[in-house]
Amino acid sequence: MSPPSAVPPEVGDATRLRIGVLASQGDFAAHAEMLGSLGAEAVEVRTSDAIAGLDGLVIPGGESTTITKAIERDGLEHSIQRHAEEGRPILGTCAGMIVCDRDHLGLVDATAERNAFGRQIASFEVELEVEGLGPDPLRAVFIRAPRISSYDDDVEVLASVEGHPVAIRQGQVVLCAFHPELTDDSRMHALLMALATAARERRQHHESGTRGQNDA
Ligand code: GLN
Repeated sequence: MSPPSAVPPEVGDATRLRIGVLASQGDFAAHAEMLGSLGAEAVEVRTSDAIAGLDGLVIPGGESTTITKAIERDGLEHSIQRHAEEGRPILGTCAGMIVCDRDHLGLVDATAERNAFGRQIASFEVELEVEGLGPDPLRAVFIRAPRISSYDDDVEVLASVEGHPVAIRQGQVVLCAFHPELTDDSRMHALLMALATAARERRQHHESGTRGQNDA
């Protein structure tokens, strides 16, 4: 009889989610801190190798042109798209919303309009009810924020300001125009982690099903 197989190295930390934060530019550190406070292992991501196998990924705010160029320069486009294709969740915030839209990485069937609230009201805060986060409104901080200007039927609007979508979800991709890392309300990050936990369970279920088939 063959000996029992070796314990995989990740087992020691198997329950802790590994969430990457794209660290090309922008306010990635605050996201990493928030994810850590919720019990995730937050990983700063700058290479495609660092994306492989992550349970979830945050694409933070900053400057969307700079972030898009950095993604191209570092060859991350394909890895981020594969992450999404594998059903691993993504949270894109502010500039990250733009980077994920159909004119950029193409992760959602929606278009984000840059600096959509105009120069005069470049930054503002509102109490926002966000679908799926419970009845308590979230204090949403908008800084030269985008908003969704068009979207297809498969996109779910989670929150709007003046009738314009500012938080959407399509499958495992959640995008918000505000900065959830700048308040002490961690519900957007908790949502990402809940999606990441469910996605991990689906993968494990799928793997054990595949093993079962191979064993048969
Ligand atoms: N205005 C920025 C852009 O268009 C986004 C601002 C932000 O991420 N806070 O890229």
